Amino acid sequence: MKPSLIVHGGAWNIPDEAVEDCRAGIRKALEAGWGVLAGGGSGLDAVEAAIVVLEDDAAFDAGIGSHLNRDGRVQLDAIAMDGATLKAGAVAAVERVRNPIRLARRVLEKSEHMMLVGAGAEQFATENGITLCSPDELILDRERSAWRLCLEDAHAAEHHVSHEAGTVGAVALDAAGRLFAGTSTGGTCCKFPGRVGDSPLIGCGCYADAETGGVSCTGHGEGIMKIVMAKMAVDLLRDPNALAPYRKDAGGATIGQAVADACVRKLAHRARTTGGLILLDREGRPAAAFTTRRMAYGFVEPSGSFTIAP
Ligand code: ASP
Repeated sequence: MKPSLIVHGGAWNIPDEAVEDCRAGIRKALEAGWGVLAGGGSGLDAVEAAIVVLEDDAAFDAGIGSHLNRDGRVQLDAIAMDGATLKAGAVAAVERVRNPIRLARRVLEKSEHMMLVGAGAEQFATENGITLCSPDELILDRERSAWRLCLEDAHAAEHHVSHEAGTVGAVALDAAGRLFAGTSTGGTCCKFPGRVGDSPLIGCGCYADAETGGVSCTGHGEGIMKIVMAKMAVDLLRDPNALAPYRKDAGGATIGQAVADACVRKLAHRARTTGGLILLDREGRPAAAFTTRRMAYGFVEPSGSFTIAP
């Protein structure tokens, strides 16, 4: 099987001045993930490697540099899913984990459960070899200032100059035909403490089924949850006939692209909000769609070159 990789760094109103940072981050994530896959490594290692790069990059709303919640704390969510077994590992509202995707992977591989939250997730981290960090290590001055402005005034995108959003995700198909997907986020800015969005929820922010494809979503979590968008995409990949009601002038688009377009169209019409998604179908063909001004994403062409947006 020819390996394949697609990654994203969020669908939002990326201003011109943030475009280069987003592109650079996406390139680094593709290099990290593709380095694993091209060497015959596992799709799960590739998803983890790509997402760790994006979590460590302050240009994105995941790991370091994430948005603060209403209490001025960073609470992180992540999920990793195995398309062969349909097992997922997810964590939510963790405050002392530098790379939540690593912890999500541990839950996937080592826990009988699918999702752990808050203190329990952090306890699982320490019991499974992940060192906890200080919550302050995840907070940048930039985000603290944005949070203060939002408190004094009202929450506003303009206060978050460099990234108003920026959830990250990856989908990888490895040479052995194994398909994995993952998503990681700091969530929405000024969210209520304990709020969990779509990102770590199986079927909402992420889904992978080796029989059909893998998906990672981004955008307004409460809307994505309403339409269970990642599962919707995978179901449409399985049954392209079901696409008919959503299909609009798909022209020469691949089924994957028609599916991605249909999902964001439904998000707009049924949930009345914006977002985006990336996917690989079971053969590894990539597609991406979004209804925001821009989305940061990239994938590896069959030639091995990278296509990067915006
Ligand atoms: N979907 C994320 C959330 O609602 C935010 C985003 O993708 O920008 O937490």
